[in-house]
Amino acid sequence: MKIQFLGAARTVTGSCFIVETDRARFAVDCGMHQGSDAIEKRNRDMTPYDPARIDFILITHAHIDHSGLLPRVVRHGFAGPVYATEPTGDLLEILLLDSAHIQETEAAGRNKRLLRSGQKGDAVALYTQKDARAVLPRIRRQKYGEAFSPAPGLTVRFQDAGHILGAAVVELFIEDGGSSQKLVFSGDIGRPNQLLMKDPTSLSDADYLFMESTYGNRNHKGELESLDELGEAIAYSYSRGEKVIIPAFAVERTQEILYSLHLLMMDGRLPSDMPVYLDSPLAIKATEIFRRHQGYLDAETQALLRKGEDPLNLAQLRFTATTEESIAINERREPAIVISASGMANAGRILHHLRHNLWRTGASVVFVGFQAQGTSGRKIVDGAQKIRIFNEDIAVGARVFTINGFSAHAGQSQLLEWLSSFKNKKMDVFLVHGENSAQKILASQIREKFHFDVEIPDYLDVLQL
Ligand SMILES: [Zn+2]
Ligand SMILES: [Zn+2]
Repeated sequence: MKIQFLGAARTVTGSCFIVETDRARFAVDCGMHQGSDAIEKRNRDMTPYDPARIDFILITHAHIDHSGLLPRVVRHGFAGPVYATEPTGDLLEILLLDSAHIQETEAAGRNKRLLRSGQKGDAVALYTQKDARAVLPRIRRQKYGEAFSPAPGLTVRFQDAGHILGAAVVELFIEDGGSSQKLVFSGDIGRPNQLLMKDPTSLSDADYLFMESTYGNRNHKGELESLDELGEAIAYSYSRGEKVIIPAFAVERTQEILYSLHLLMMDGRLPSDMPVYLDSPLAIKATEIFRRHQGYLDAETQALLRKGEDPLNLAQLRFTATTEESIAINERREPAIVISASGMANAGRILHHLRHNLWRTGASVVFVGFQAQGTSGRKIVDGAQKIRIFNEDIAVGARVFTINGFSAHAGQSQLLEWLSSFKNKKMDVFLVHGENSAQKILASQIREKFHFDVEIPDYLDVLQL
């Protein structure tokens, strides 16, 4: 058996692992590479994927860094099924179309600039909405805990990863060359006690574990402390008549922020005359999908819903579906909270809100998710004085909050805790989905605590098992 790392190797994005047994060649995840130009160039080169030779794809969850290249591999000849949980299937329908729309818009913008500068407008979108739609009939929906066999000699089981709605840890039982082995791909592992989501499922055995390491080097602050910080940002900007801007991924992050605002409101810390704008058509649709799959939410949320209390709703919540409504938010000089995408401030409506508010002292920008290297979000978090948005330098005058207690990822000690349930001492651990500096720290902790063999594969590395 052979495994090649086509992404999320010494970096966070582009998750894709190609597994080859004597009877099948398939991928675990098919994510988009996001970040610097050098990283994003990997999205264009389909050679290592060889899509026509992929028999099927297992998707751990709907985040674009795990699913965003599906339309591209389909366009380049992949013709097999895509296995995912039910909510992931539903989320893919909206996320892939949205991603395709972004790709088309960016290519059109690049072409306009090329033509204006006297060059040929030959930029081509990574994929189109038509490509994204071609993925949808390939999706096969599976339930947590139920085994299925996508190829001879191969059994797969999805378990709740507790990360976002429908997120799965993949258990893979492979019979290859006369021996049988168990591989586990963690996907993204959720933070225990996260609002909305159940805790990640503990597993007890594997021969080879491919584990995420996003926060391998640090622990999160507690949820209560994070809620306090969000309350502080609101109080700071409300008293100064300014806005709180929250870049948030449309799925999970946004719903957890709504839930947190609901908690602050119950606690009297969200002024009732401060509108909350959910300025992301995608997040609005994603919130509907959360409501549709209540059985996947944690016990606390289900209990609230049964009582008729909707933690994803607020009296002052406004949905802005159209661009005109989105623009109007910044024409009103009033304190408000704006939740918009993308979560790493590298595309989407959030850029307009940052252009209007980032320079204003009194405003707040609240980061609630991981910011990858090379993104505008990361630059702001790292203390940049100015950010380039739409070819204009915007000063950073707003107060910047980084609230990682809302993370959908386990922190270092929580990753180690999840790992502690594995009982096979001869298990090999491969750290993926993390920046190398974080991975090295986590690797030494794992060796010290559990004495597992730990490796940190690099991009395009091939592993023979
Ligand atoms: Zn994720
Ligand atoms: Zn991820």
